Amino acid sequence: MDVVESAAACRALLDAARSTGACVGLVPTMGALHEGHLSLVARARAECHTVAVSIFVNPLQFGDPEDIAHYPRTLEDDLRQCKEAGVDVVFVPPVAEMYPTWPEPPATTVSVHGVSEAWEGASRPGHFDGVATVVAKLFAIAGPCRAYFGLKDFQQLAVVRAMATELSLPVELVGCPIVREDDGLARSSRNVRLGADERAAATALSRALAAARAAVAAGERSGPALAAAMRDVVATEPLVHLSYAAAVDATTLAELETVADPAALRLLIAAQVGPVRLIDNSAALEGADEDAAPRPPAGRTPAPSAYVTASVARQLERTG
Ligand code: AMP
Repeated sequence: MDVVESAAACRALLDAARSTGACVGLVPTMGALHEGHLSLVARARAECHTVAVSIFVNPLQFGDPEDIAHYPRTLEDDLRQCKEAGVDVVFVPPVAEMYPTWPEPPATTVSVHGVSEAWEGASRPGHFDGVATVVAKLFAIAGPCRAYFGLKDFQQLAVVRAMATELSLPVELVGCPIVREDDGLARSSRNVRLGADERAAATALSRALAAARAAVAAGERSGPALAAAMRDVVATEPLVHLSYAAAVDATTLAELETVADPAALRLLIAAQVGPVRLIDNSAALEGADEDAAPRPPAGRTPAPSAYVTASVARQLERTG
């Protein structure tokens, strides 16, 4: 496994892999890896010859200085988990590598209008500009690839999808199902900051989503009624301060008055629990996110990843 800090080294490794016909899978992360991240890596490992993980706590997407100051950083453990998961390349850029002018923000940023504006975008001004900018940079550094994102950050995936499509970036996006704790709480790097009572109360988010799903299954088609069903669950937990609960169109993220097609509905929820802002979401229909079975790798000359890794190593030796 190669661990590189420079964009040039990351690009060279992935270009060399592609030159052997390999399909490259990219998993962008902010580290503090858990089962959610590892599910993305496993999917990339199953579908691609060469798997790259980026670990970068992107200062451009944090509005709250407290949030970035407390964001967990566990690089040694992350690298161990990447190695065990069969990752080929880990890109761990220092802030200066991504933003040479930092703390002065870059002059060039990427803004996605529409899908970025409501929900998390409204609660966290500038957040999605930071996300779109760093992901555009990671795509530029990684080159043509499949990129794996969690449905956990549903709006983020919508923003990245719009950005990649409208900027004609050579990246195929793959959305992966949400990995949860046994009690339903969506796995998140921030969960470690919850106290015991907060941790127990935090299950209100997934319980609220389950209540709305049950309402849809029972025939409810009013968006406001579904939102109210979610709010009612959260109201039973004094430690959970609701930010929003909404029934939205899964593509535009516009709030729905009436649900014409439950397959096109997405349930969104966010709340502050103690020091942590938690987000969660769900399709309305059970199992809707589990659809996509791993696809065979694309590429001119499919080869087992061990072969590709070895041949990349040889090529790099040759090119010095
Ligand atoms: P982060 O490190 O929080 O920026 O997350 C990196 C990637 O992992 C994003 O695409 C997230 O959506 C994804 N991810 C985080 N938590 C989960 C989870 N519980 N289930 C599935 N994907 C996740």
